[in-house]
This record gives sequence, C-alpha cells and structure tokens, in this order.
Amino acid sequence: MLNGVDVQAGTAGRIVVVGSLNADLTVYCERLPLPGETVHGSGFAVHPGGKSANQAVAASLLGGAVSLIGAVGDDTNGAMLTASAAGAGVDISRVRISQTAATGVAVIAVDSYGENTIIISPGANGTLGPADVHASGDAFDGASVICLCLEVSLETVVAAARSGREAGATVLLNLSPYSDIPQELVGLVDILLVNAHEASLFLGGAAISEGGIPEGKDKAGWERARVRFAELGLQCVVVTLGANGSVVLDSAADEDSKVVRVAPVEVKAVDTTGAGDAFTGALAARLAAGASLKDAAAFASAASSLAVTRKGTQAAYPDVEDVRRLLG
Ligand code: ADP
Repeated sequence: MLNGVDVQAGTAGRIVVVGSLNADLTVYCERLPLPGETVHGSGFAVHPGGKSANQAVAASLLGGAVSLIGAVGDDTNGAMLTASAAGAGVDISRVRISQTAATGVAVIAVDSYGENTIIISPGANGTLGPADVHASGDAFDGASVICLCLEVSLETVVAAARSGREAGATVLLNLSPYSDIPQELVGLVDILLVNAHEASLFLGGAAISEGGIPEGKDKAGWERARVRFAELGLQCVVVTLGANGSVVLDSAADEDSKVVRVAPVEVKAVDTTGAGDAFTGALAARLAAGASLKDAAAFASAASSLAVTRKGTQAAYPDVEDVRRLLG
C-alpha cells in the first residue's frame, strides 16, 4: 500500500496515448558543454524514447492496457521503437510507418549529476495529423484515459482531446515541451500535468519555486497557483518538482484538500531523462484503474523515482513488482 493505494489493483479502462516516438541518441559526460565548447563524453547509447512512446511503455508496464497512435519512419530506429513498445505490451497497431519521413530523433547529453539537455528532430512525428486520429477512431471507443503531450502538432493534440472528450474519457495533457495552447484545448483537458518550469510559464511567470511545498509558508503560494489555474480554465493540475516530489491542485476537491503535496521518494538519481514521462504514464495507469488523482499521483511519484535510478528511459521504467519492492 502507498498512501492508501493498492499497487496490486487491476486495470479497468483502456489508455490511448497519442503522440511522439523518438530514438534517443544519448551521450554521457562529466558536465554539459557551454555554447561553443567541446567536452569529452564517457559513453554513447541509442535508446527508444519520445514522450508518448515513453508514457505508453510506462503505463503498460504498470498494468495499463495501452494503445499508441503515432508515426515512425521505415527505418531501423522505427523498428527499434515499435519493438520496444510492443515488448512492453503496448498495442502498436495504430503506429503508422511513413514512407517519406525518417523516425524522429532526440540528441541527449546527460552529465554526472543526471541533468540533461535535449534537441529533438521530429521526423515522422511531424507527419502525424488529425487524419491519423480519425483513422483510429475505434481506439477511443470505451477508452478511459487519453494521454497527450506537445511533441506533435497542436491540431493533432486538439483532435485527440476532442475524440477523448466525445468518448467520455479523462483527457490528460502533459504540457511538454512547453508551448502556449489554444483556449479550445484548455477546455478539452481534464488534468494538466506540468513540471515547475512549465507551470511558471503557463501562469505567466508567477512564482512557483521548486521545493515550494503546500505546508508552512509556501502553502499560500500553491493556493494562489491553484486559483490562477482555475481562473485559466484548469480545475485539476499536477505539478512535478523533480527530487521534491509533486503537488496536486484540485479546485473541485473539498476545501482542505484542494492543494495536496505528494512527498518525494528519496533515491540516488543516475539519469533523470524521461522522469516526467514515467510519472505521466504511471498517473494514467492508476487513473485508468480507478484511483483518485491524489492516489494516482502518489503512485506516479514512486514509479518515477525508480525510473531516475537507472540509465535510459523506457528500459529504466519499473513494473508493478518494482514499485511494490520500493515501498517494502
Ligand atoms: P520532468 O522530467 O518533466 O522535468 P520532474 O523533473 O519534475 O519532471 O520529475 C518528474 C517526477 O520524477 C518527480 O515528480 C519525481 O516523482 C520523480 N523524480 C525526478 N527526479 C527525481 C529525483 N532526483 N529523485 C526522486 N524522484 C525524482
């Protein structure tokens, strides 16, 4: 049990993840280079990645029944990505193989503190459009959670959110990489998931300090953030805070639980790449299993803390057994 969450609970509803698949080209180095500087790396690896593929794999490994809608090129990276997702149990039958665009890549540098920089070349992800969403309309029938991020075009995200809303599913948007979003999309989102940086950008630079917690003197800061999100049309927001855990802002909750801090699980971080995706996938898996937002966030906190203890993204993601072992 974790904060009252039964990690063994079965998965009730299906999860549809719409978005990106990228090959992560990762080089490890002592410290990240400054502009114009060259540093020596200590290793290189190609891992399956892309926010949506990561989120789909994380959710599937944690017991979710997951369908992935996306696009890859007709190349070895595309084959690697679909094999990795399928190996984790994700339904990849709706991942289109483009004959014109190469598979997307992310060039990642990771330093000895586990911090990273990332450059993305979208490739086939840039060809994913509303037509792909509509062609996969059957995937939305009876789905319980739709999981979206901003590594594909906004039109695609809006089309998927609309299909999810029409199907009566919970629409979960990970506002990453950060971009302004149209009011139409805001109106289709049930739960927004952001890290502290994205939260500040969305609120127009309003102060949300990392480590700010809803107890003590920071409680008023999170309360202000909750009110501001609600004014902007978002009732439910989860803000992840790296090693400091996360905060759930739920304007529909009772007065004393509108702002809830989810404590971090203390681990030795090796590679934080994809931590947010692990959190998002885990959150989707628990929501689909019927957990409350706060319980799902507590579970996601444990799952994502495990993900940062190993190198890579998808290969580093835990399954339910791993989470149970962590919680003793
Ligand atoms: P992103 O990867 O999107 O920037 P965060 O850095 O906020 O997102 O990390 C997402 C989640 O991963 C956090 O809420 C936390 O649960 C977990 N996490 C990240 N870094 C650490 C860390 N150093 N120690 C423990 N958990 C971590």
